[in-house]
Amino acid sequence: MKRYWKYIKPYLTAFICGPLLMIVEVIGEVLLPKFMANIINIGAANRDIPYIIGMGIVMVITALLMMAGGIGGAYFAAKAAISFSSDLRSDVFDKVQKFSFANLDRFSTGSLVTRLTNDITQVQNLINMALRMMLRAPGMLIGALIMAFLMNAQLAIVVLVVIPILVTLIAVVIRIAFPRFEVMQKKLDILNSNIQEMLTNVRVIKSFVRGTYEEEKFAAANEDLKQSSLNAFKVVILNMPIMMLMMNATTLAVVWFGGKQILAGNMPVGDLTAFTAYIVQILMSLMMLAMVLLQSSRALASLHRITEVLDTEVDLTDEGCAFPERKVESGRVEFKNVSFRYYKDNKEKVLDGINFKVESGQVLGIIGSTGSGKTTLVQMIPRLYDIDEGEVLVDGVNVRDYSLKNLREGVGMVLQKNVLFSGTIMENLMWGDENASDEEIARAAQDAQAAPFIDTFTEGYETELGQGGVNVSGGQKQRLCIARALLKKPKILILDDSTSAVDTATEAKIRESFTSTLKDTTKIIIAQRITSVMDADKILVLDEGRIAGMGTHDELMMGCQAYQEIYYSQMDKEVSAS
Ligand code: ADP
Repeated sequence: MKRYWKYIKPYLTAFICGPLLMIVEVIGEVLLPKFMANIINIGAANRDIPYIIGMGIVMVITALLMMAGGIGGAYFAAKAAISFSSDLRSDVFDKVQKFSFANLDRFSTGSLVTRLTNDITQVQNLINMALRMMLRAPGMLIGALIMAFLMNAQLAIVVLVVIPILVTLIAVVIRIAFPRFEVMQKKLDILNSNIQEMLTNVRVIKSFVRGTYEEEKFAAANEDLKQSSLNAFKVVILNMPIMMLMMNATTLAVVWFGGKQILAGNMPVGDLTAFTAYIVQILMSLMMLAMVLLQSSRALASLHRITEVLDTEVDLTDEGCAFPERKVESGRVEFKNVSFRYYKDNKEKVLDGINFKVESGQVLGIIGSTGSGKTTLVQMIPRLYDIDEGEVLVDGVNVRDYSLKNLREGVGMVLQKNVLFSGTIMENLMWGDENASDEEIARAAQDAQAAPFIDTFTEGYETELGQGGVNVSGGQKQRLCIARALLKKPKILILDDSTSAVDTATEAKIRESFTSTLKDTTKIIIAQRITSVMDADKILVLDEGRIAGMGTHDELMMGCQAYQEIYYSQMDKEVSAS
């Protein structure tokens, strides 16, 4: 509760005014039947028209006041609930932004989307409902009970018999519903993950003609959600008929016993009308409480999922960093006995005993089969993950001793999955440096060999890119991503298989421009094609997370069998292709 106080505090007035204004409604509701009884018992019995009119006016004024209270209460309750959830959503979003790659691996995107949208809406609905009901329902219950007892204590006993039965029934419904709601939210997660994956990859799905498969997968997840929702609501819908049955049975009992009392002359007729109204109010207030409890069983399941995100410990922080002000200067990289696993309980290491050194300005090529750990290895340099054993040093300083901001500012990385954002080419490039001048942008685009194709676009740098850069080719996208990384003027530039869709001639030009313009930048290039790394100062050959060979092309050709195999298999292909 304490942690949520900060979302309540700024809107305390709304949180207080909402329930308070609802009391006006309660007072009116409790008084109206009494006024009605007076009209029948006094006004009608004595044919006193002025009394009836006077009472009628009082009732109209009461009803108007109730309306004002009701509107005000509902307004403040909605304002409090909406503001609370908006701030909470903002905090959950900020937390997700701080997540490390390892944290993100644990939550699916779909699940995070559900938590940020549907789950927060559930909590919002609960707050809205609770603020309106928290004083109103108990107020109405107690008020109507008191009025009923004052009017006819004997008859009011009927209600006392009904209440415990009703409360027990409601408790049973909630107990059964709660776990079912939890299951329902999980199924919603799965469905959202499905939709998210399907939408982001819709082009791949179409090209592999996997539409039907995806439809079936979606239909199955949708059916699952339907069943679990039905399962939960099956219990909830019982609530209303049970209530109505109890209400009608009680009214019947009251009319039965009350009727007898009237016949015996112990009770005025008007009291029976008022009494029935109080019975309805008492049961209605219990129904409202039940609804709040039901919504809370749903919202608590959601709140639990939200708290899970907020409570996740971000496992990559600046904590304990020795030189928070230090920046990457020369770009020298050294791995000392580095080992790493993605999941700490896995036996197999993804990186095992890695040792190497790259001097500032050198080019390091990394080659190896798919899954050998190339991407994993380079991700350790900007600390996208933390290693388990050993040390990763940049400029001779452990990467953990830099602040994440300074370390990552010094490292430019073009990931395997290149992502561009909707916006112009210019806006995308300026991600690298928001203060970059036009000349600097043109220069970076030139070095990445992006300028030639940008110039052919009628809008040039102002060309709008679709979401994810859909309107440029794979190779063009890669070149834009390289240009974006170059604008960062990094001390270490990492290219993770980022020229795979670029033709060899253009790739060679990109490499040439690196040699002339990025003399002082350490370049680490992961490649599938041996020609991409052949000229590197040093080449690392990775195999199942271990270094199978290290040296220049010539050295490896002489002494590393794994490298020779890759070389000959690629040369063979080239020969047969030509
Ligand atoms: P490469 O870049 O050489 O193709 P990777 O470094 O991507 O290889 O992967 C090395 C191993 O680590 C693979 O077995 C892969 O399945 C596993 N792996 C990669 N990324 C993750 C991740 N985020 N979570 C768990 N395992 C991963």
